[in-house]
Amino acid sequence: MAEFLEQELKYLPGVGPRRAELLYKELKLKSYRDLIYYFPYKYIDRTKFYSISEIHTQMPFIQVKGKIRSMTTVGSGRKERLTVQFYDGTGSIELIWFRAVKWQKENLKLNKTYIVFGKPTQFGGKLNVVHPDMETEEETQLKPSGLFQGYYHTSENMKKNFVNSKVINKLQLTLMQLAVGKIKETLPKKLITSLKLTSLEKSLITIHKPENTVDLKNATFRLKFEELFFIQLKILGLKHKREKKFKGFNFEKVGYNFNKFYNHFLPFELTNAQKKVIKEIRRDVNRNSQMNRLLQGDVGSGKTLVALMIMFLAMDNGFQSCLMAPTEILAQQHFQSISKFLEGMNIRVALLTGSTKAKERKVLHEALQSGEIQILIGTHALIEDTVKFKNLGLVVIDEQHRFGVAQRAKLWKKNDLIPPHVLVMTATPIPRTLAMTVYGDLDVSVIDELPPGRKPIETMHFFENRRNQLNNFLQQQLAKGAQIYIVYPLISESEKIDLKNLEEGYRHITEAFPDTKIGMVHGKMKPAIKESAMQTFKKGDTQILVATTVIEVGVDVPNATIMVIESAERFGLSQLHQLRGRVGRGASQSYCILMSSYKISAESKKRLETMVRTNDGFEIAEVDMKIRGPGEIEGTQQSGIGFDLKIANLGKDGEILQLARNVATDILDDDPFLQKEENKLLLKYLMTSKETQFSWSSIS
Ligand code: ADP
Ligand code: MG
Repeated sequence: MAEFLEQELKYLPGVGPRRAELLYKELKLKSYRDLIYYFPYKYIDRTKFYSISEIHTQMPFIQVKGKIRSMTTVGSGRKERLTVQFYDGTGSIELIWFRAVKWQKENLKLNKTYIVFGKPTQFGGKLNVVHPDMETEEETQLKPSGLFQGYYHTSENMKKNFVNSKVINKLQLTLMQLAVGKIKETLPKKLITSLKLTSLEKSLITIHKPENTVDLKNATFRLKFEELFFIQLKILGLKHKREKKFKGFNFEKVGYNFNKFYNHFLPFELTNAQKKVIKEIRRDVNRNSQMNRLLQGDVGSGKTLVALMIMFLAMDNGFQSCLMAPTEILAQQHFQSISKFLEGMNIRVALLTGSTKAKERKVLHEALQSGEIQILIGTHALIEDTVKFKNLGLVVIDEQHRFGVAQRAKLWKKNDLIPPHVLVMTATPIPRTLAMTVYGDLDVSVIDELPPGRKPIETMHFFENRRNQLNNFLQQQLAKGAQIYIVYPLISESEKIDLKNLEEGYRHITEAFPDTKIGMVHGKMKPAIKESAMQTFKKGDTQILVATTVIEVGVDVPNATIMVIESAERFGLSQLHQLRGRVGRGASQSYCILMSSYKISAESKKRLETMVRTNDGFEIAEVDMKIRGPGEIEGTQQSGIGFDLKIANLGKDGEILQLARNVATDILDDDPFLQKEENKLLLKYLMTSKETQFSWSSIS
């Protein structure tokens, strides 16, 4: 017989073939395991009763005890509705059904005591509960539930077929009774003891049927820990295998180029954060294994320079480097700034993008293969193209979130035996917890300091009533020679309206600032026209640039010190932060002004408040993740480790995640191939799970 948890759901009493099909179709639940791991999203204390007179619509749910006074139906067919007057001696409330009207009418009885449970709402001046749970007193007493009742998400289609949260709850309770004594522990005994974890069986039973808050807390902890621990074990296990499998180049020497640049050409002192990070990377490229490191640093923290210093290291040890950017504009910008740093250094650097001409490309390919070109900068073309290096030792990837794990892997194949070191740079701050999971196979370096002399950008939020004040302020700043961005949202669903807003905005601005030269860019323009509008602004020939988010990345105009964002409530947090990053690049004080309408949601308000409060990209990323949930954050889909969290929450469970990662690290350090008896369960897990099967089953 199959193991208990592997049995098919259709055999569970109360399920049957039809419900089994529905549960599979709607929730992908197929086995006992799937059901048992389908956790409640909330619990409600069913010991508390209210009297009808104290109910108000602010309450998330109510439970009252009373009797039905009368029932009426209105409408017919699909529009039929049942209204029940329910009273308890302190007052009365309406109960309403739109579905299963006939069934309810036949089953509900006048003058019988019911317990009614549901969410109170107000309609037509009356309090009512739509589709309440109804139970007779006897039914309630029979129910084996504990203090709290679990609530489960169900789909519309399920509800239509009478499989609601309550039904799932009942199925869970049935399953719990069968499960006693049959659920095998998945974590090693040693861990259970040292971390004082609740057993798996008790945790699973408790999570569906908690008896008290302490048990529930312990069960939740155990299940969250287990979930995060196994993800970490997979990620770190793979990383470990990769390090064992691939040798790496050693950049032993700190030689001529590095020293020459550092001593004679570096135009400023490195920040301490830059020094720290360079040290971390140096250690990493000199330990016989391939480096895979994520370099995080807020906009303007000086990542490019760090990358360049590492490229010197590569060069001094006889290797070529490449730098890959997600867009052509960014690649060009890198090319320009790196070429500028290299003036007088006698180093050959080249640019390769989609628009490099065939003839040029040919020359370039040859120079790469002969090793004359020491640094190659470009876009995807670098990997997609048939580019061959003489001796590629270092790959730098800018703005990681646009490159998937698969693309990274492609780079490794550029060399036959030994893969180049990989340094991934991102300015999109990623919350620490997410970095540990999504980029958990990468080591992380953080530049947590901006170069000195930068004045923090001052951010303000104005409602429409301060438009005049805004215009006066802009006028003053223009008089001082400042340049201004004014950004309008452009969201694809309503592009036409948005474009109209943009053009209207442009007109208003021309009227408000008649003596100022004003440019405009948006995504619908021809690239050449867009580029020329940008260049005009960059050269200072226009003072105001009216734009959409096309300027979000890649524009570097140090003289632009003011960013006005219109309808700021319509932007996401990370987008607002990226846009703000376009200013504050020079030495003068910069400002960001967020304009919004009066009517904004609580969430938008939180976003704008966060922007006003802090310039810290990491703090902003944390708030963003709490608001949106980690799944929405760019990059999560690319982890390649296929995780879909059932109970843990990366926004809230950072501590448990850290613990899980530490424990996994300790275990792998102590027993790299999980050969010890005490780790048998873990080895089995890695050998049977989809993502790690391949590399782990080859050991034994
Ligand atoms: P990002 O981290 O956003 O890629 P960049 O590398 O583009 O940042 O650096 C932003 C600006 O700061 C560049 O003009 C760069 O030359 C300058 N910069 C970098 N490091 C320092 C430093 N230590 N001191 C002063 N300016 C620096
Ligand atoms: Mg950069």
